[in-house]
Amino acid sequence: MFNTFLIKYGEIGIKGKNRHLFEEALVRRIRGALHQTEGDFDVTWEQGRIYVSRSGAFDFDETIQALQKVFGIVGISPVMVTEEKGLDQLGTDVIAFLQESYPVHDQSFKIVTRRAKKDYPIPSMEVSSEIGGRVLDAFPDMHVDVHQPELEIHVEIRDQIYIYSETIKGPGGMPVGTNGSAMLLLSGGIDSPVAGYMIAKRGVKLDAVYFHAPPYTSERAKQKVVDLAKQISVYTGPIRLHVVNFTDIQLAIYDTCPHDELTIIMRRYMMRIAEHFAKENHDQGLVTGESIGQVASQTIQSLAATNAVCTMPVFRPLIAFDKQDIIDISLKIGTYETSILPYEDCCTIFVAKHPVTKPLLHIIERSEQKLEGKIEELYREAIDGVEIIEVRP
Ligand code: ATP
Ligand code: MG
Repeated sequence: MFNTFLIKYGEIGIKGKNRHLFEEALVRRIRGALHQTEGDFDVTWEQGRIYVSRSGAFDFDETIQALQKVFGIVGISPVMVTEEKGLDQLGTDVIAFLQESYPVHDQSFKIVTRRAKKDYPIPSMEVSSEIGGRVLDAFPDMHVDVHQPELEIHVEIRDQIYIYSETIKGPGGMPVGTNGSAMLLLSGGIDSPVAGYMIAKRGVKLDAVYFHAPPYTSERAKQKVVDLAKQISVYTGPIRLHVVNFTDIQLAIYDTCPHDELTIIMRRYMMRIAEHFAKENHDQGLVTGESIGQVASQTIQSLAATNAVCTMPVFRPLIAFDKQDIIDISLKIGTYETSILPYEDCCTIFVAKHPVTKPLLHIIERSEQKLEGKIEELYREAIDGVEIIEVRP
């Protein structure tokens, strides 16, 4: 009976031309998400409403799950669509709708009518009270409550009639692509996939960069990051993943700089290279999974030292999150199981026993000066040798 879905989306603050762009991007993302599912579908967009209809066989739950991954959708209402054949037929249809949708019929309700077809001869209020009367006749235990009804039965009059009462929660946020793009530093850990998800939820399209250190890190560790990118691309759409060979830079830092500063200096080179690719892709910012105090390289002093090499804004959506809150999101979005696979990460291989926790910028900069003369070429080689993988769901 329900082969049509009304898509509800947030509109607050979105006006004029921006609203059009928002809707256009949302329709595009809905099409992309449904493409992964079985069955044919049709997405129509008229008078500020988006409808998805499916013909032939399709899986209801799978469709809902796909739509629940599209940022910008606030709610999804399964709709019964019937022919417009006058009030008597409409009454019969609403009763059939209630019969199908609910096992018991003792709720309070109200009918909300909306005439999208302006030449429909009967005013909305009149339709509502007429249909309400017929519902009461059919189900004597139901009663009308216009203020706090248990059921809000919506009747929309268009070329056909649309009847619905339930709204399934969508993910909220804004359609990907409506708020620019950013470069995510994606490692194999728990945090950075969650950070990417959160930024994308605000409508930002993602590119990504991963630093590996073969042969110290394995092909499997790289595959893990590709898999994580694939998992978040279900929400974000396709991601251009830049895989950068970081081995020679890491070895040079290891050979030249004080070992308690390794992680900080390494992170500064990661940020520089990430920013290079961000500019190349016309991104407006960088995204990391950092959170204050989580490890030595994430004290507020360490974050400041890392941040100092960037000219672009660095977005850290997890900055004030506890680890458990981050884990909860990663479980919800489905990246957790992959993130905890035990493959080595390039940060953990060259790690010092006692890293500095309060690095001073001028001291770090002085250590980095020792790299001058050889780091420039290694930096260029790392960038020239990038492997770009187009990741999609
Ligand atoms: P995550 O769980 O995201 O790996 P983490 O808690 O392990 O984070 P760090 O290793 O200090 O923390 O890394 C902090 C951030 O730096 C990561 O969230 C990520 O954005 C970035 N980062 C770290 N290592 C890499 C890497 N090998 N490639 C790309 N980005 C990285
Ligand atoms: Mg990590």
